[in-house]
Amino acid sequence: MPIQNEYLSGVYAGLAARNAEQKEFLQAVDEVLESLEPAVAAHPEYQKAGLIERMVEPERVVMFRIPWVDDAGKVHVNRGYRVQFNSSIGPYKGGLRFHPSVNLSIIKFLGFEQCFKNSLTGLPMGGGKGGSDFDPHGKSDDEVMRFCQSFMTELYRHIGADCDVPAGDIGVGGREIGYLYGQYKRITNQFTGVLTGKGIPYGGSLARTQATGYGLCYFAKEMLAANGKSFEGAKVVVSGSGNVAIYANQKATSFGAKVVAMSDSNGYIVDENGIDYKVIQQIKEVNRARIKTYLDFVPTAKYVEGSAGIWNVPCDIALPCATQNELPLAGAKALVANGCFAVAEGANMPSTPEAVAYLQANHILFAPAKASNAGGVATSGLEMSQNSLRLSWTFEEVDERLQNIMTNIYANAANAAEEYGVKGNLVAGANIAGFTKIASAMLSQGIV
Ligand code: NDP
Repeated sequence: MPIQNEYLSGVYAGLAARNAEQKEFLQAVDEVLESLEPAVAAHPEYQKAGLIERMVEPERVVMFRIPWVDDAGKVHVNRGYRVQFNSSIGPYKGGLRFHPSVNLSIIKFLGFEQCFKNSLTGLPMGGGKGGSDFDPHGKSDDEVMRFCQSFMTELYRHIGADCDVPAGDIGVGGREIGYLYGQYKRITNQFTGVLTGKGIPYGGSLARTQATGYGLCYFAKEMLAANGKSFEGAKVVVSGSGNVAIYANQKATSFGAKVVAMSDSNGYIVDENGIDYKVIQQIKEVNRARIKTYLDFVPTAKYVEGSAGIWNVPCDIALPCATQNELPLAGAKALVANGCFAVAEGANMPSTPEAVAYLQANHILFAPAKASNAGGVATSGLEMSQNSLRLSWTFEEVDERLQNIMTNIYANAANAAEEYGVKGNLVAGANIAGFTKIASAMLSQGIV
């Protein structure tokens, strides 16, 4: 539905005219502004302070050249980005994505959403995002290291433990964070908590690796329980087979569900006996291989070429954990037709606006990414706290804090939805709950 509020639609029109080619960014802003209508109508001071105009414009965008040399001695040049979106409630915080599809639109969409997500965690973190169009697939460890070193040789000037704290995202896992951290430390001669997702021996937090997938299931569990449902005995489809997907599988399975399908960008596997997350871990994290090699481990499973068809696999709960816009209207229709009752987003903006509208119209319980995948950044926030305290908490301590945070995020989103007259709509509730804290901080800090 187009934005109705005159102030919001005016801001959106101006933004669309200035950034016409940035379709993912505009999609993300459109979705947020639409759901902020009741909050903006109730608070005329937002318009007076030009709050929304300021919120949709990043505080700073850095774009830079990343030259590096491959194993054969050939020189390559990639493009790097860091978008520092909003620092009103804390230092910029958000991941780095290495994927050939990365461009300014994708980094701005992710940075914009990150602001609301970080606010929802209740921790003092502003929003940012970065990355590069570099593709780590098929590169040797040495090539990845040289690329990361070149990337950090520029990025280090713009980040800092109290200024901007990047983390991982698609294509940036423990290996990449290690190389990035090593180069930061070498250049600055500082051992600080400037990155999160670090290895445990050098300041990482236990449970950070698992946090996004676990947090997704903690959030989904709350949403299901509030509606008389649970993971127990449910069939679950998880798209993707990366960091988020693997630990979503583990936690959903521990809650009594059976994960029957998972994917990568080439295709998907179906195993009605339940997919063991340890096999996916071996394939993806150790072998760095394709998901179709699952058949080497479980010959009775089925592999289907092409990832888009995964939503045709009948399930009770769908957890899209791969990438943006991976769940289109056709996928939403297939889920509804097959009796799915809940969709919880692990990836960022995995469902298209048409898919979200269709799922909501068909009374599917829907957990939006900003709320349901906030466990990763929340635990990054806990890693920052531990670094500042020069302490390491146990896995159980971190996991318990994560569970409390996800329970609170669910309650805040559900309460905000009810307060603003859209009970049960967690998309609107999450956006409003995340927004109001940032809005209040920005109002206090003047026109900056
Ligand atoms: P990874 O790089 O670890 O994994 C991404 C996975 O998605 C890979 O298995 C990849 O397969 C697969 N994939 C990519 N495109 C498609 C597609 N079109 N169809 C099916 N599968 C696809 O990334 P993460 O798990 O870290 O991130 C996944 C999503 O979660 C992203 O949207 C990210 O922004 C979001 N997220 C991640 C957080 C984190 O803590 N890691 C925190 C919050 C959100 P292939 O190997 O073929 O590329």
